[in-house]
Amino acid sequence: MFPLIREILAMAPRSQELTVRGWIRTKREMKNLVFLEVNDGSCLASIQCTLDPAAGGLSPAKLGTGASVEITGKLLPSPARGQEAELAVSALTVLGEAPGEDRETAEGTIRAYPLQKKRHSLEFLRETPQLRGRTNTLGAVMRVRSRLAFAVHRFFQERGYQYLHTPIITGNDAEGAGALFRVTSQGGEGEFFGRKSFLTVSGQLEAEAYAAALSRVYTFGPTFRAEHSNTARHLAEFWMIEPETAFAGLNENMDLAEDFLKHCINTVLEDCAADLAFFDERIQPGLSGSLRSAAESPFTRMTYTEAVGELRKPGAGPFEFEPRWGADLQSEHEKFLTEKCAAGPVILTAYPREIKAFYMKLNPDGKTVRAMDVLVPRLGEIIGGSEREEKLGALCSRMKELGIDTEGYGQYLDLRRYGTVPHAGFGLGFERLIQYLTGMTNIRDVIPYPRSAGQLF
Ligand code: ATP
Ligand code: MN
Repeated sequence: MFPLIREILAMAPRSQELTVRGWIRTKREMKNLVFLEVNDGSCLASIQCTLDPAAGGLSPAKLGTGASVEITGKLLPSPARGQEAELAVSALTVLGEAPGEDRETAEGTIRAYPLQKKRHSLEFLRETPQLRGRTNTLGAVMRVRSRLAFAVHRFFQERGYQYLHTPIITGNDAEGAGALFRVTSQGGEGEFFGRKSFLTVSGQLEAEAYAAALSRVYTFGPTFRAEHSNTARHLAEFWMIEPETAFAGLNENMDLAEDFLKHCINTVLEDCAADLAFFDERIQPGLSGSLRSAAESPFTRMTYTEAVGELRKPGAGPFEFEPRWGADLQSEHEKFLTEKCAAGPVILTAYPREIKAFYMKLNPDGKTVRAMDVLVPRLGEIIGGSEREEKLGALCSRMKELGIDTEGYGQYLDLRRYGTVPHAGFGLGFERLIQYLTGMTNIRDVIPYPRSAGQLF
């Protein structure tokens, strides 16, 4: 296989002959020299290629931004600042042109390549998902995303967790974690599965079953919620990571979440240094420093009650929504706790039972549950988890209280009927993690093809 530009740029230039494949980012024409910046998405940097238009067959005419090329030349030390090597071109083939102006062809009008030299807004790029991966920002995001996916598996595999593929089509609505998408077959009559079916909103219930068999499992897969709130941190289709640990309680769960986030931060700091420097410079000034400090210090841990106390202290506001014990925290409250109060990630525990799901274990106070949410600066909630109620009687009475039909949860209750064990787990939104680690403010810009209400490009 031909070398990638990231491999070429790591070589010492010794006049060796090489072939580069990629897409032209920019072309600068001087009197008797043409400079091409060629990028192949393997790294942030492009390779500079210099060609002498007087040399036979090297016409620069078709070398527009966006064209794909195959270039052979010698790798030489570069006199230019900020780059070690450049390619002195001896042969060049345009594989695919990208016209700089609208062009009439037999197949109809080909519009000018939309990504010209100037910087485009992220909003503009969102409408061109098929091309936006060729920009510096989206390229960097997708490299970080890929590296992080790998880091997720490495983290859990090294700790004895088995990767579990939970179903995408389910018959349960997982505690009503979010609004559901219904699954039906096109044109068929009645229910395809003989009963109502949905796209999964969480793999937790199935993960609990396998944690009660394999001790430690994690899921990492697509998740769907018919969110109508059009926020910068909600998608209709996103990826979730859900570890579930048997023979563990809230403290082990909190430690796991903290270790995991630190592992992800360190992965990006170590493996994605150039991309991270780019985000720090162009997207979120101070990003690397804040990530480094989050990785180096223990996360602040406090109870929900303590958090409400902090929020109600004189001088804490002003808030649009008054912080009140018993109410869900608003994102302005989460921002205050992580940015002003702790200046870093915060793990909140012991939430009022009324605002959390039925499966969370009650604390001895009878009023709060053994929930744990992890909040981070800029974003708020990134992880939601809990110790689960493992006692059959306690779980059933909690379900009755909330009017949940125990009939529909026969399989889930069986886990409490046969060999029940204490266990705990959490759910982490993969895109929110990427937002946290790249500083990208809109979740639509950290997934290749974002899906949200009213938008399906
Ligand atoms: P929020 O209150 O932010 O809507 P949630 O409490 O409904 O989130 P959970 O059910 O706790 O979310 O899901 C676990 C994690 O999955 C969340 O902490 C978040 O990181 C992620 N997540 C939830 N909903 C979405 C969504 N619509 N798009 C992207 N990520 C999401
Ligand atoms: Mn949550």
